[in-house]
Amino acid sequence: MKMFDNLFKKLNNKPVPVFAQTKIEKETKDDSSYTKPKTTFNDVAGLEEIKEELFEIVDFMRFPDKYKKMGAKIPKGVLFYGPPGTGKTLLASAVAGETNSAFFNVTGSEFVEKYVGVGAKRVRALFDRARKEAPSIIFIDEIDAIGAKRHSESNNEKDQTLNQLLVEMDGFTKDSNIIVIGATNRLDLLDEALLRPGRFDRHVHIGSPNYHTRHEILKVHTKDKPIDKKVDLNILAKKTHGFNGAHLANIANEAAIFAVRENSSVITENHFDKALERVIAGLESKTSTLIEKEKRIVSYHEAGHALVSDLVGICPIQKISIVPRGQALGYVLQLPDEDRYIYTKDELLSKIKILLAGKASEELIFNHKSTGAKDDLKKVTDIANQMICEYGMSDLGFMTIDNKNKTFLTEKIQKEANSIVENCYKETLELLRENINDLHIVSNHLFENETMTHEELKSLIRKEMC
Ligand code: ATP
Repeated sequence: MKMFDNLFKKLNNKPVPVFAQTKIEKETKDDSSYTKPKTTFNDVAGLEEIKEELFEIVDFMRFPDKYKKMGAKIPKGVLFYGPPGTGKTLLASAVAGETNSAFFNVTGSEFVEKYVGVGAKRVRALFDRARKEAPSIIFIDEIDAIGAKRHSESNNEKDQTLNQLLVEMDGFTKDSNIIVIGATNRLDLLDEALLRPGRFDRHVHIGSPNYHTRHEILKVHTKDKPIDKKVDLNILAKKTHGFNGAHLANIANEAAIFAVRENSSVITENHFDKALERVIAGLESKTSTLIEKEKRIVSYHEAGHALVSDLVGICPIQKISIVPRGQALGYVLQLPDEDRYIYTKDELLSKIKILLAGKASEELIFNHKSTGAKDDLKKVTDIANQMICEYGMSDLGFMTIDNKNKTFLTEKIQKEANSIVENCYKETLELLRENINDLHIVSNHLFENETMTHEELKSLIRKEMC
Protein backbone atom coordinates (compact mmCIF):
# COMPACT_ATOMS: atom_id res chain seq x y z
CA MET A 1 0.00 0.00 0.00
CA LYS A 2 1.51 3.25 -0.98
CA MET A 3 1.54 6.90 -0.20
CA PHE A 4 2.32 8.86 -3.30
CA ASP A 5 3.30 12.09 -1.60
CA ASN A 6 6.91 12.83 -2.58
CA LEU A 7 6.66 10.34 -5.38
CA PHE A 8 8.57 12.66 -7.65
CA LYS A 9 11.82 11.58 -6.04
CA LYS A 10 11.15 8.03 -7.06
CA LEU A 11 10.14 9.16 -10.52
CA ASN A 12 13.28 11.21 -10.84
CA ASN A 13 15.45 8.24 -10.04
CA LYS A 14 13.67 6.05 -12.48
CA PRO A 15 12.07 8.02 -15.26
CA VAL A 16 8.87 6.65 -16.73
CA PRO A 17 8.98 5.86 -20.45
CA VAL A 18 8.34 8.81 -22.68
CA PHE A 19 6.34 8.36 -25.81
CA ALA A 20 5.91 12.02 -26.78
CA GLN A 21 9.38 13.09 -27.74
CA THR A 22 9.79 16.44 -29.46
CA LYS A 23 11.57 16.68 -32.75
CA ILE A 24 14.81 14.85 -32.10
CA GLU A 25 13.78 12.41 -34.76
CA LYS A 26 16.23 11.49 -37.47
CA GLU A 27 15.30 13.99 -40.12
CA THR A 28 17.49 14.52 -43.19
CA LYS A 29 19.50 11.47 -42.31
CA ASP A 30 22.79 11.61 -44.21
CA ASP A 31 24.77 8.99 -42.36
CA SER A 32 23.92 6.37 -39.78
CA SER A 33 26.10 8.06 -37.21
CA TYR A 34 24.63 11.55 -37.25
CA THR A 35 21.43 13.48 -37.90
CA LYS A 36 20.51 17.01 -38.87
CA PRO A 37 17.84 17.85 -36.27
CA LYS A 38 15.20 20.46 -36.92
CA THR A 39 14.85 21.11 -33.19
CA THR A 40 15.18 24.77 -32.18
CA PHE A 41 15.23 26.63 -28.88
CA ASN A 42 11.47 27.17 -29.34
CA ASP A 43 10.98 23.45 -28.74
CA VAL A 44 12.69 23.77 -25.37
CA ALA A 45 10.27 25.26 -22.87
CA GLY A 46 11.50 27.52 -20.07
CA LEU A 47 15.22 27.27 -19.19
CA GLU A 48 15.69 30.84 -20.45
CA GLU A 49 19.03 31.51 -18.73
CA ILE A 50 20.43 28.26 -20.11
CA LYS A 51 19.28 29.06 -23.63
CA GLU A 52 20.87 32.50 -23.29
CA GLU A 53 24.17 30.92 -22.29
CA LEU A 54 24.00 28.49 -25.20
CA PHE A 55 23.04 31.24 -27.61
CA GLU A 56 26.59 32.54 -27.35
CA ILE A 57 27.86 29.18 -28.60
CA VAL A 58 25.30 29.18 -31.37
CA ASP A 59 26.51 32.64 -32.38
CA PHE A 60 30.12 31.46 -32.32
CA MET A 61 29.25 28.63 -34.67
CA ARG A 62 27.12 30.73 -36.97
CA PHE A 63 29.53 33.64 -37.28
CA PRO A 64 32.96 32.27 -36.39
CA ASP A 65 34.75 35.09 -38.25
CA LYS A 66 33.27 37.72 -35.96
CA TYR A 67 34.96 36.02 -33.00
CA LYS A 68 38.17 35.10 -34.78
CA LYS A 69 38.73 38.76 -35.69
CA MET A 70 38.65 39.58 -32.00
CA GLY A 71 41.04 36.73 -31.23
CA ALA A 72 38.32 34.94 -29.21
CA LYS A 73 38.52 31.16 -29.05
CA ILE A 74 35.42 29.11 -29.68
CA PRO A 75 34.53 27.00 -26.62
CA LYS A 76 35.28 23.33 -27.12
CA GLY A 77 33.10 21.65 -24.59
CA VAL A 78 29.99 22.23 -22.52
CA LEU A 79 28.88 19.97 -19.74
CA PHE A 80 25.20 19.61 -18.86
CA TYR A 81 24.59 18.12 -15.46
CA GLY A 82 21.45 17.45 -13.47
CA PRO A 83 18.73 14.86 -12.92
CA PRO A 84 17.40 12.67 -15.74
CA GLY A 85 14.59 13.75 -18.06
CA THR A 86 15.19 17.47 -17.66
CA GLY A 87 15.93 18.25 -21.31
CA LYS A 88 19.70 17.84 -21.67
CA THR A 89 19.46 15.84 -24.91
CA LEU A 90 16.75 18.13 -26.18
CA LEU A 91 18.92 21.21 -25.59
CA ALA A 92 21.94 19.65 -27.29
CA SER A 93 19.78 18.75 -30.25
CA ALA A 94 18.46 22.34 -30.32
CA VAL A 95 22.03 23.69 -30.45
CA ALA A 96 22.60 21.44 -33.49
CA GLY A 97 19.29 22.54 -35.05
CA GLU A 98 19.99 26.24 -34.48
CA THR A 99 23.45 25.96 -36.09
CA ASN A 100 22.44 23.53 -38.83
CA SER A 101 25.16 21.21 -37.54
CA ALA A 102 25.59 17.49 -37.84
CA PHE A 103 24.39 16.00 -34.55
CA PHE A 104 26.35 13.02 -33.26
CA ASN A 105 24.32 11.61 -30.40
CA VAL A 106 26.28 8.94 -28.51
CA THR A 107 26.26 7.42 -25.03
CA GLY A 108 29.37 7.04 -22.90
CA SER A 109 28.65 3.36 -22.32
CA GLU A 110 28.85 2.71 -26.08
CA PHE A 111 32.60 3.27 -25.77
CA VAL A 112 33.12 0.92 -22.88
CA GLU A 113 34.74 -2.10 -24.45
CA LYS A 114 36.29 -5.28 -23.22
CA TYR A 115 39.49 -5.07 -25.24
CA VAL A 116 42.12 -2.43 -24.58
CA GLY A 117 42.24 0.21 -27.28
CA VAL A 118 38.87 -0.54 -28.91
CA GLY A 119 37.00 2.27 -27.11
CA ALA A 120 39.79 4.73 -27.94
CA LYS A 121 39.65 3.71 -31.58
CA ARG A 122 35.92 4.36 -31.67
CA VAL A 123 36.38 7.81 -30.10
CA ARG A 124 38.95 8.61 -32.82
CA ALA A 125 36.57 7.45 -35.54
CA LEU A 126 33.74 9.59 -34.09
CA PHE A 127 35.86 12.75 -34.05
CA ASP A 128 37.25 12.07 -37.53
CA ARG A 129 33.71 11.83 -38.84
CA ALA A 130 32.62 14.97 -36.95
CA ARG A 131 35.56 16.93 -38.40
CA LYS A 132 34.57 15.81 -41.88
CA GLU A 133 30.95 16.87 -41.42
CA ALA A 134 31.65 20.10 -39.47
CA PRO A 135 29.99 22.16 -38.21
CA SER A 136 29.20 19.37 -35.78
CA ILE A 137 27.83 18.86 -32.30
CA ILE A 138 29.02 15.72 -30.54
CA PHE A 139 26.65 14.93 -27.69
CA ILE A 140 27.97 12.35 -25.22
CA ASP A 141 25.22 11.32 -22.82
CA GLU A 142 26.25 9.56 -19.58
CA ILE A 143 29.77 10.85 -20.09
CA ASP A 144 30.65 9.51 -16.63
CA ALA A 145 30.77 6.01 -18.17
CA ILE A 146 34.07 7.00 -19.84
CA GLY A 147 34.99 10.12 -17.90
CA ALA A 148 34.87 8.89 -14.31
CA LYS A 149 37.76 9.81 -11.99
CA ARG A 150 40.84 7.69 -12.60
CA HIS A 151 42.62 6.00 -9.71
CA SER A 152 45.39 3.48 -9.14
CA GLU A 153 43.11 0.52 -9.82
CA SER A 154 41.52 2.08 -12.89
CA ASN A 155 40.69 -0.05 -15.83
CA ASN A 156 43.25 0.31 -18.60
CA GLU A 157 40.71 0.20 -21.41
CA LYS A 158 38.59 2.97 -19.86
CA ASP A 159 41.67 5.13 -19.23
CA GLN A 160 42.72 4.84 -22.85
CA THR A 161 39.25 5.82 -24.02
CA LEU A 162 39.20 8.88 -21.77
CA ASN A 163 42.74 9.83 -22.84
CA GLN A 164 41.69 9.64 -26.46
CA LEU A 165 38.73 11.95 -25.77
CA LEU A 166 41.08 14.45 -24.12
CA VAL A 167 43.55 14.20 -27.01
CA GLU A 168 40.78 14.81 -29.54
CA MET A 169 39.49 17.85 -27.67
CA ASP A 170 42.98 19.27 -27.25
CA GLY A 171 43.53 18.81 -30.96
CA PHE A 172 40.70 21.12 -32.02
CA THR A 173 42.11 23.98 -34.03
CA LYS A 174 40.44 27.38 -34.09
CA ASP A 175 38.82 26.36 -37.38
CA SER A 176 37.41 23.05 -36.13
CA ASN A 177 33.84 24.26 -35.60
CA ILE A 178 32.98 21.26 -33.44
CA ILE A 179 31.43 21.50 -30.00
CA VAL A 180 31.35 18.55 -27.64
CA ILE A 181 28.43 18.54 -25.23
CA GLY A 182 28.66 16.07 -22.39
CA ALA A 183 25.78 15.16 -20.09
CA THR A 184 25.82 13.52 -16.71
CA ASN A 185 23.64 13.12 -13.66
CA ARG A 186 26.76 13.11 -11.46
CA LEU A 187 29.25 15.93 -12.01
CA ASP A 188 31.16 14.84 -8.89
CA LEU A 189 32.15 11.55 -10.56
CA LEU A 190 34.05 13.16 -13.42
CA ASP A 191 37.83 13.20 -13.76
CA GLU A 192 39.43 16.60 -13.11
CA ALA A 193 41.22 16.41 -16.46
CA LEU A 194 37.89 16.58 -18.28
CA LEU A 195 36.81 19.70 -16.41
CA ARG A 196 40.00 21.66 -17.03
CA PRO A 197 39.83 24.93 -19.00
CA GLY A 198 39.99 24.23 -22.71
CA ARG A 199 37.99 21.02 -22.35
CA PHE A 200 34.56 20.94 -20.68
CA ASP A 201 35.05 24.32 -19.13
CA ARG A 202 31.44 25.45 -19.24
CA HIS A 203 29.23 23.66 -16.75
CA VAL A 204 25.51 24.16 -17.06
CA HIS A 205 23.21 22.83 -14.36
CA ILE A 206 19.82 21.72 -15.64
CA GLY A 207 17.62 21.08 -12.64
CA SER A 208 14.04 19.92 -12.09
CA PRO A 209 11.62 22.43 -13.58
CA ASN A 210 9.88 24.92 -11.32
CA TYR A 211 6.20 25.77 -11.57
CA HIS A 212 6.74 28.32 -14.37
CA THR A 213 8.85 25.92 -16.45
CA ARG A 214 6.40 23.05 -15.91
CA HIS A 215 3.66 25.28 -17.24
CA GLU A 216 5.76 26.15 -20.30
CA ILE A 217 6.66 22.49 -20.92
CA LEU A 218 2.99 21.50 -20.71
CA LYS A 219 2.17 24.23 -23.24
CA VAL A 220 4.80 22.88 -25.66
CA HIS A 221 3.52 19.32 -25.35
CA THR A 222 -0.16 20.21 -25.75
CA LYS A 223 0.14 22.83 -28.46
CA ASP A 224 -0.73 20.45 -31.30
CA LYS A 225 -3.37 18.56 -29.35
CA PRO A 226 -7.13 19.30 -29.23
CA ILE A 227 -7.49 20.40 -25.61
CA ASP A 228 -10.88 21.13 -24.03
CA LYS A 229 -11.26 24.82 -23.16
CA LYS A 230 -11.88 23.98 -19.50
CA VAL A 231 -8.44 22.40 -19.09
CA ASP A 232 -6.28 24.74 -17.03
CA LEU A 233 -2.57 24.01 -17.56
CA ASN A 234 -1.77 26.31 -14.64
CA ILE A 235 -3.49 23.91 -12.27
CA LEU A 236 -1.82 20.91 -13.88
CA ALA A 237 1.58 22.63 -13.49
CA LYS A 238 0.82 23.17 -9.79
CA LYS A 239 -0.13 19.54 -9.28
CA THR A 240 3.06 18.24 -10.88
CA HIS A 241 5.65 19.57 -8.45
CA GLY A 242 8.78 17.44 -8.71
CA PHE A 243 7.99 16.12 -12.18
CA ASN A 244 10.58 16.56 -14.92
CA GLY A 245 10.06 17.36 -18.60
CA ALA A 246 9.96 13.70 -19.54
CA HIS A 247 7.11 13.04 -17.07
CA LEU A 248 5.16 16.06 -18.32
CA ALA A 249 5.56 15.01 -21.96
CA ASN A 250 4.35 11.57 -20.89
CA ILE A 251 1.28 12.97 -19.10
CA ALA A 252 0.28 14.98 -22.19
CA ASN A 253 0.65 11.87 -24.34
CA GLU A 254 -1.20 9.57 -21.92
CA ALA A 255 -4.08 12.08 -21.70
CA ALA A 256 -4.35 12.02 -25.50
CA ILE A 257 -4.42 8.21 -25.44
CA PHE A 258 -7.23 8.22 -22.83
CA ALA A 259 -9.21 10.63 -25.05
CA VAL A 260 -8.80 8.34 -28.07
CA ARG A 261 -9.82 5.32 -26.00
CA GLU A 262 -13.05 7.10 -25.01
CA ASN A 263 -13.74 8.31 -28.56
CA SER A 264 -13.63 11.88 -27.31
CA SER A 265 -12.99 14.67 -29.83
CA VAL A 266 -11.07 16.72 -27.23
CA ILE A 267 -8.74 15.97 -24.32
CA THR A 268 -10.55 16.86 -21.11
CA GLU A 269 -9.55 17.59 -17.54
CA ASN A 270 -10.64 14.09 -16.64
CA HIS A 271 -8.23 12.61 -19.20
CA PHE A 272 -5.37 14.64 -17.72
CA ASP A 273 -6.30 13.49 -14.20
CA LYS A 274 -6.30 9.87 -15.32
CA ALA A 275 -2.97 10.35 -17.09
CA LEU A 276 -1.47 11.94 -14.00
CA GLU A 277 -2.62 9.08 -11.85
CA ARG A 278 -1.34 6.54 -14.31
CA VAL A 279 2.08 8.16 -14.54
CA ILE A 280 2.31 8.39 -10.75
CA ALA A 281 0.78 5.14 -9.62
CA GLY A 282 1.07 2.82 -12.62
CA LEU A 283 -1.49 0.89 -14.51
CA GLU A 284 -4.86 0.17 -12.88
CA SER A 285 -5.40 -3.54 -12.37
CA LYS A 286 -8.65 -4.55 -14.03
CA THR A 287 -8.63 -7.97 -12.44
CA SER A 288 -8.25 -7.28 -8.78
CA THR A 289 -7.53 -10.44 -6.87
CA LEU A 290 -8.13 -8.99 -3.40
CA ILE A 291 -10.22 -11.30 -1.30
CA GLU A 292 -12.93 -9.65 0.80
CA LYS A 293 -10.90 -9.78 4.01
CA GLU A 294 -7.90 -8.14 2.34
CA LYS A 295 -10.13 -5.51 0.80
CA ARG A 296 -11.40 -4.65 4.29
CA ILE A 297 -7.81 -4.38 5.60
CA VAL A 298 -6.74 -2.18 2.68
CA SER A 299 -9.83 0.03 3.23
CA TYR A 300 -8.86 0.68 6.86
CA HIS A 301 -5.20 1.11 5.95
CA GLU A 302 -5.90 3.80 3.32
CA ALA A 303 -8.64 5.40 5.42
CA GLY A 304 -6.06 5.76 8.21
CA HIS A 305 -3.62 7.55 5.90
CA ALA A 306 -6.34 9.83 4.55
CA LEU A 307 -7.84 10.74 7.90
CA VAL A 308 -4.52 11.54 9.60
CA SER A 309 -3.43 13.48 6.53
CA ASP A 310 -6.59 15.55 6.79
CA LEU A 311 -6.14 16.03 10.54
CA VAL A 312 -2.51 17.18 10.41
CA GLY A 313 -3.23 19.05 7.16
CA ILE A 314 0.15 19.49 5.49
CA CYS A 315 -0.66 18.41 1.96
CA PRO A 316 -4.12 18.19 0.42
CA ILE A 317 -5.42 14.78 -0.59
CA GLN A 318 -6.37 14.43 -4.22
CA LYS A 319 -7.77 10.93 -4.22
CA ILE A 320 -7.93 7.77 -2.12
CA SER A 321 -8.25 4.42 -3.81
CA ILE A 322 -8.27 0.73 -3.00
CA VAL A 323 -8.14 -0.27 -6.69
CA PRO A 324 -4.75 -1.97 -7.07
CA ARG A 325 -2.32 -0.10 -9.32
CA GLY A 326 1.18 -1.19 -10.20
CA GLN A 327 2.40 -2.98 -7.08
CA ALA A 328 0.21 -0.97 -4.70
CA LEU A 329 -2.98 -2.52 -3.33
CA GLY A 330 -4.33 0.90 -2.48
CA TYR A 331 -3.06 4.45 -2.33
CA VAL A 332 -3.63 7.99 -1.18
CA LEU A 333 -2.71 10.53 -3.82
CA GLN A 334 -1.42 13.76 -2.33
CA LEU A 335 -0.44 16.47 -4.75
CA PRO A 336 1.01 19.67 -3.37
CA ASP A 337 -0.66 22.82 -4.68
CA GLU A 338 2.56 24.80 -4.49
CA ASP A 339 6.31 24.23 -4.91
CA ARG A 340 7.81 23.54 -1.49
CA TYR A 341 11.53 23.42 -0.87
CA ILE A 342 11.68 23.89 2.91
CA TYR A 343 9.97 21.78 5.57
CA THR A 344 9.92 22.46 9.28
CA LYS A 345 10.55 19.76 11.88
CA ASP A 346 6.83 19.71 12.74
CA GLU A 347 5.94 19.19 9.11
CA LEU A 348 8.37 16.29 8.77
CA LEU A 349 6.91 14.72 11.92
CA SER A 350 3.46 15.13 10.38
CA LYS A 351 4.65 13.36 7.25
CA ILE A 352 5.85 10.47 9.39
CA LYS A 353 2.49 10.32 11.17
CA ILE A 354 0.62 10.22 7.85
CA LEU A 355 2.86 7.40 6.66
CA LEU A 356 2.41 5.43 9.91
CA ALA A 357 -1.36 5.94 9.93
CA GLY A 358 -2.06 2.93 7.68
CA LYS A 359 -0.23 0.57 10.01
CA ALA A 360 -1.77 2.24 13.10
CA SER A 361 -5.26 1.92 11.67
CA GLU A 362 -4.76 -1.81 11.01
CA GLU A 363 -3.44 -2.34 14.52
CA LEU A 364 -6.37 -0.46 16.06
CA ILE A 365 -9.07 -2.30 14.13
CA PHE A 366 -7.62 -5.77 13.57
CA ASN A 367 -5.06 -5.88 16.34
CA HIS A 368 -2.47 -7.19 13.91
CA LYS A 369 0.76 -6.22 12.17
CA SER A 370 0.69 -6.86 8.41
CA THR A 371 3.08 -6.70 5.46
CA GLY A 372 1.07 -3.87 3.91
CA ALA A 373 3.12 -1.14 5.59
CA LYS A 374 6.46 -2.13 4.04
CA ASP A 375 6.68 0.79 1.63
CA ASP A 376 5.45 3.29 4.25
CA LEU A 377 8.04 2.12 6.76
CA LYS A 378 10.85 2.54 4.26
CA LYS A 379 9.84 6.16 3.73
CA VAL A 380 9.48 6.71 7.47
CA THR A 381 13.00 5.36 8.01
CA ASP A 382 14.38 7.67 5.31
CA ILE A 383 12.74 10.78 6.79
CA ALA A 384 13.82 9.94 10.35
CA ASN A 385 17.42 9.33 9.22
CA GLN A 386 17.48 12.56 7.24
CA MET A 387 16.16 14.47 10.27
CA ILE A 388 18.99 13.12 12.39
CA CYS A 389 21.91 12.96 9.96
CA GLU A 390 21.20 15.81 7.54
CA TYR A 391 18.98 18.40 9.20
CA GLY A 392 20.23 18.44 12.79
CA MET A 393 16.70 17.87 14.10
CA SER A 394 17.44 15.38 16.87
CA ASP A 395 19.02 15.29 20.31
CA LEU A 396 22.33 14.35 18.65
CA GLY A 397 22.72 18.04 17.88
CA PHE A 398 22.85 20.56 15.07
CA MET A 399 25.23 18.72 12.84
CA THR A 400 25.33 16.68 9.72
CA ILE A 401 26.56 13.13 10.10
CA ASP A 402 28.41 11.84 7.05
CA ASN A 403 28.86 8.19 6.12
CA LYS A 404 32.20 7.97 7.90
CA ASN A 405 30.75 9.19 11.20
CA LYS A 406 27.59 7.13 10.79
CA THR A 407 29.69 4.01 11.40
CA PHE A 408 30.73 5.31 14.84
CA LEU A 409 27.29 6.60 15.73
CA THR A 410 25.12 3.77 14.39
CA GLU A 411 23.71 2.85 17.78
CA LYS A 412 22.92 6.43 18.78
CA ILE A 413 21.32 7.17 15.40
CA GLN A 414 19.22 4.03 15.72
CA LYS A 415 18.09 5.07 19.20
CA GLU A 416 17.16 8.58 18.04
CA ALA A 417 15.31 7.23 15.00
CA ASN A 418 13.38 4.77 17.19
CA SER A 419 12.41 7.52 19.56
CA ILE A 420 11.17 9.79 16.72
CA VAL A 421 9.18 7.02 15.07
CA GLU A 422 7.74 5.58 18.31
CA ASN A 423 6.53 8.99 19.51
CA CYS A 424 4.94 9.66 16.13
CA TYR A 425 3.29 6.25 16.18
CA LYS A 426 1.82 6.82 19.66
CA GLU A 427 0.41 10.19 18.57
CA THR A 428 -0.99 8.67 15.38
CA LEU A 429 -2.77 5.93 17.32
CA GLU A 430 -4.17 8.59 19.63
CA LEU A 431 -5.40 10.70 16.71
CA LEU A 432 -7.14 7.70 15.18
CA ARG A 433 -8.68 6.64 18.51
CA GLU A 434 -10.11 10.14 18.95
CA ASN A 435 -11.59 9.98 15.44
CA ILE A 436 -12.56 6.33 15.34
CA ASN A 437 -16.07 7.04 14.02
CA ASP A 438 -14.65 8.90 11.05
CA LEU A 439 -12.22 6.06 10.47
CA HIS A 440 -15.11 3.56 10.22
CA ILE A 441 -17.12 5.87 7.95
CA VAL A 442 -14.25 6.59 5.55
CA SER A 443 -13.21 2.95 5.48
CA ASN A 444 -16.77 1.74 4.79
CA HIS A 445 -17.19 4.26 2.00
CA LEU A 446 -13.92 3.08 0.44
CA PHE A 447 -14.91 -0.57 0.79
CA GLU A 448 -18.20 0.11 -1.02
CA ASN A 449 -17.01 2.57 -3.67
CA GLU A 450 -13.28 1.76 -3.95
CA THR A 451 -12.26 5.39 -4.58
CA MET A 452 -12.89 8.68 -2.85
CA THR A 453 -12.10 12.28 -3.74
CA HIS A 454 -10.99 15.00 -1.34
CA GLU A 455 -14.46 16.59 -1.49
CA GLU A 456 -16.15 13.27 -0.66
CA LEU A 457 -13.82 12.78 2.30
CA LYS A 458 -14.57 16.26 3.60
CA SER A 459 -18.32 15.90 3.22
CA LEU A 460 -18.35 12.48 4.95
CA ILE A 461 -16.40 13.77 7.93
CA ARG A 462 -18.41 17.00 8.12
CA LYS A 463 -21.70 15.10 8.03
CA GLU A 464 -20.53 13.20 11.06
CA MET A 465 -19.65 16.43 12.90
CA CYS A 466 -23.10 18.03 12.35
P1 ATP B 1 18.60 11.75 -19.44
O1 ATP B 1 19.53 12.36 -18.43
O2 ATP B 1 17.76 10.65 -18.87
O3 ATP B 1 19.27 11.39 -20.72
P2 ATP B 1 17.68 14.26 -20.48
O4 ATP B 1 17.94 15.31 -19.47
O5 ATP B 1 18.62 14.16 -21.64
O6 ATP B 1 17.48 12.87 -19.77
P3 ATP B 1 15.70 14.62 -22.50
O7 ATP B 1 15.92 13.29 -23.16
O8 ATP B 1 16.26 15.80 -23.18
O9 ATP B 1 16.20 14.53 -21.00
O10 ATP B 1 14.17 14.86 -22.23
C1 ATP B 1 13.20 13.84 -22.39
C2 ATP B 1 11.95 14.41 -23.00
O11 ATP B 1 11.32 15.28 -22.03
C3 ATP B 1 12.22 15.32 -24.19
O12 ATP B 1 12.30 14.61 -25.39
C4 ATP B 1 10.99 16.21 -24.17
O13 ATP B 1 9.88 15.55 -24.73
C5 ATP B 1 10.71 16.37 -22.67
N1 ATP B 1 11.32 17.61 -22.13
C6 ATP B 1 12.26 17.69 -21.15
N2 ATP B 1 12.55 18.97 -20.87
C7 ATP B 1 11.82 19.72 -21.71
C8 ATP B 1 11.68 21.12 -21.92
N3 ATP B 1 12.38 22.01 -21.20
N4 ATP B 1 10.82 21.53 -22.89
C9 ATP B 1 10.11 20.66 -23.61
N5 ATP B 1 10.18 19.33 -23.45
C10 ATP B 1 11.01 18.85 -22.52
